[in-house]
Amino acid sequence: MAEPILSIRDFSVDYVTERGLVRAVDGVTLDVEPAEILGIAGESGSGKSTLAQALMRILPPPAVISGGQVLFEGRDLLALPEDDLREVRWKRIAMVFQSAMDALNPVTTVGEQIEETLHAHGAVSADAARARALELLEMVGIPSASIDAYAHQLSGGMRQRVCIAMALALHPSLLILDEPTTALDVIVEREILEQIRALQRRLGFAVMFITHDLARMLQFSDRVAIFYAARLVELAPADALRRAARHPYTQGLLRSFPSVHGGGTELQSIPGAPPSLETPPAGCRFHPRCGRVVDRCRTQNPAWRTLAPSHAAACHLAE
Ligand code: ATP
Ligand code: SF4
Repeated sequence: MAEPILSIRDFSVDYVTERGLVRAVDGVTLDVEPAEILGIAGESGSGKSTLAQALMRILPPPAVISGGQVLFEGRDLLALPEDDLREVRWKRIAMVFQSAMDALNPVTTVGEQIEETLHAHGAVSADAARARALELLEMVGIPSASIDAYAHQLSGGMRQRVCIAMALALHPSLLILDEPTTALDVIVEREILEQIRALQRRLGFAVMFITHDLARMLQFSDRVAIFYAARLVELAPADALRRAARHPYTQGLLRSFPSVHGGGTELQSIPGAPPSLETPPAGCRFHPRCGRVVDRCRTQNPAWRTLAPSHAAACHLAE
């Protein structure tokens, strides 16, 4: 098997608050393989965005990286000088956020913005930059006539496609998508995700796809990592997770999404709410909501167990 493109090891991130440290990413170990789509799912506040932004070191204070290692294409991102890191960001790792489309410059055309990105990261002639901008827009399904449009003249879906084109402009090997289509309607969302998948298969970049929508995640990803209260609790190929999730939290999530649930039994939401990360429960953090809780769940943090070659979970009862 090829080396992972990204190796996250025992990675922790805290927010410094008046009441003390809030650990939003707690000892996460996770790889992204070349040319795969790795989904990261979990309820709101489970630490998904903090993980993505902290590993690129773009998370501002009060967040602090408290420990661990992030190896990307063999380089330790946490130890890299800022100048070298800037080279990695956008050139090798690109990111599209939910709000990216609102951050497009209102006073320059979308073509000019893509061309600026190309000029900023290397000497390209004006003609070459224009040709590449056209190629990129076409790649994400935007008609060439729109190269001279301003952001406000485009729909939300089109603007987000422009952001994806900009992210792919420098041939990154990893694209991080953080809820990229959450603000869009479901048809536009599906079209954009299908387009990203087609581009990913053609161009061979890896994707880290963050969402709280498990159904969307299972359709779009090769493997899925499930987060609960700042910790990774299950990791498996998407089809294995759909068929045979092993962590009670993942099983609960699957039962609560209509389109993954498949009918036959009633939809059930998980009782209770995720804990505050200021005062997380001892032991397994899911224990106050878990229907299978046993005594040791209340005091002992479950170890990470490999259940099959590419399937692992952190639950005392997962054997
Ligand atoms: P969402 O899907 O809502 O974006 P998420 O899974 O991406 O959620 P994060 O945004 O990474 O979660 O937040 C994780 C946790 O970090 C939150 O539950 C909160 O406790 C804490 N947190 C986030 N931002 C701050 C902040 N600026 N100050 C203090 N704590 C914060
Ligand atoms: Fe439930 Fe215990 Fe497993 Fe946690 S460790 S998910 S509380 S059975």
